[in-house]
Amino acid sequence: MTMIYDVVVLGGGIAGSVAAKSLAEQGWRTVVLDRQRFPRHKVCGEFLSPESLATLSRLGLLEAVQSLSPSVISSTSLYLESGGVIRLPLPGTALGISRYRLDASFHQAAAAAGASIREGATVISVNMEDRDYTITLRSEGHTEVLRARAVIAAWGGAGLAAGGVKGRKEPDDRQQPDDRHWSHSQRHEGDVKAARQGRLRSSSRTPDYVGVKMHYEMKDFAPDCVQENSAVELYFFRGGYAGVNQVEDGKVNVAALLDRDDIPSKHRSVAGMMEEAACRHPKLHERMAALHAMPATASAVSPVRISMQPVAWNGIPLIGDAICRIPPLCGDGMSMALRSAELCSLYASRYLRGELSLGDWECEYREAIMREFSKPLRWGRLTESLLSSVILSRALPALARLAPKAARGMIQATRLRI
Ligand SMILES: Cc1cc2nc3c(=O)[nH]c(=O)nc-3n(C[C@H](O)[C@H](O)[C@H](O)COP(=O)(O)OP(=O)(O)OC[C@H]3O[C@@H](n4cnc5c(N)ncnc54)[C@H](O)[C@@H]3O)c2cc1C
Repeated sequence: MTMIYDVVVLGGGIAGSVAAKSLAEQGWRTVVLDRQRFPRHKVCGEFLSPESLATLSRLGLLEAVQSLSPSVISSTSLYLESGGVIRLPLPGTALGISRYRLDASFHQAAAAAGASIREGATVISVNMEDRDYTITLRSEGHTEVLRARAVIAAWGGAGLAAGGVKGRKEPDDRQQPDDRHWSHSQRHEGDVKAARQGRLRSSSRTPDYVGVKMHYEMKDFAPDCVQENSAVELYFFRGGYAGVNQVEDGKVNVAALLDRDDIPSKHRSVAGMMEEAACRHPKLHERMAALHAMPATASAVSPVRISMQPVAWNGIPLIGDAICRIPPLCGDGMSMALRSAELCSLYASRYLRGELSLGDWECEYREAIMREFSKPLRWGRLTESLLSSVILSRALPALARLAPKAARGMIQATRLRI
């Protein structure tokens, strides 16, 4: 007889593996499906905000993260296109840690809690039959079907942008639940080639970005180069921005977002896009001149679209970037992924115990996500526009000096309050 899982989690990034850990700890038969193999490099600034550390602590994961030798980050420096610089303390300690190490350690934690982790398993579709779900996946050239009492979609931003629902247009921010059938397209990270060929055009109202990241070593590296209290640096330039911060073992992560329509053809590789970003800001150029690229650490994602509104449920519950993409400059995407995983697994447990109907789960979870995510998303978008505007940004350093509390308040408004 086919085994019925209690929960199948679709996607094993931060949100998926953390949700699986929580559910498995409560005794639910849980499996995580991810099309990639871990550890893997992933486009991300690799900045774990103070807010995310609080959630990690509640989830029992903070010690595991601290054991990965993250860098400690206590301030932020914003290098504006106009040439001005704003330096602000962070509202608490943040950590710099590679997604290569972080995601793999969350997989270990989920497995230790009793969840099964299946890598190289691409989810093709999800159907509801009676009260259960069937999940069709492709793994090593074979098609397989799993059954579950509940599913949670943690397939990241590409999942949402890819459409999720068979036979429907790409969902927008007003999408409504579809009751019976969800099919997940295979468009995903690493689609820079497709972006280059202009196949991934969209009609969204915000720019389509290409996101790239690479690790670097400091030239003349010595172990004492590992700063005790480093800064996360953000460089704003025409058509995008880049974040630079230390991660584990003194390595430096550089992540950049560039408007897809504004990348010269000679720079359409990860290294090329890094060069393009550096060419657009003299201070970034100077910073990167002191760094050596580390081989096999590059990754890219396209398109990156910043969301207008959070969407917590699309026929099935969504967590992490599947709900919304906050502007990366806020450095709070992982915090939102962790928090939505925490919330959703609580509701899922109540549903599985028979304390909530599916409709109640949907209703309560939607409300909770709207309440917690709408404001940071709105302020994140506003902050991104302000900092990216050459004209407005000319006045910002002086304003930040005159009214430091207001400047900190604005950054604070982009963060999750939990
Ligand atoms: C340029 C850039 C910089 C950023 N910097 C920061 C930062 O400094 N700090 C921060 O907090 N956030 C940052 N973010 C945001 C952060 O990376 C995301 O919010 C976070 O990764 C979301 O986690 P997730 O688990 O929801 O999604 P993901 O980490 O994207 O995981 C989704 C997983 O689902 C899998 N998947 C997708 N489709 C399928 C399928 N069909 N079948 C099986 N598996 C599937 C994928 O392989 C992937 O492993 C940044 C984002 C960008 C683009």
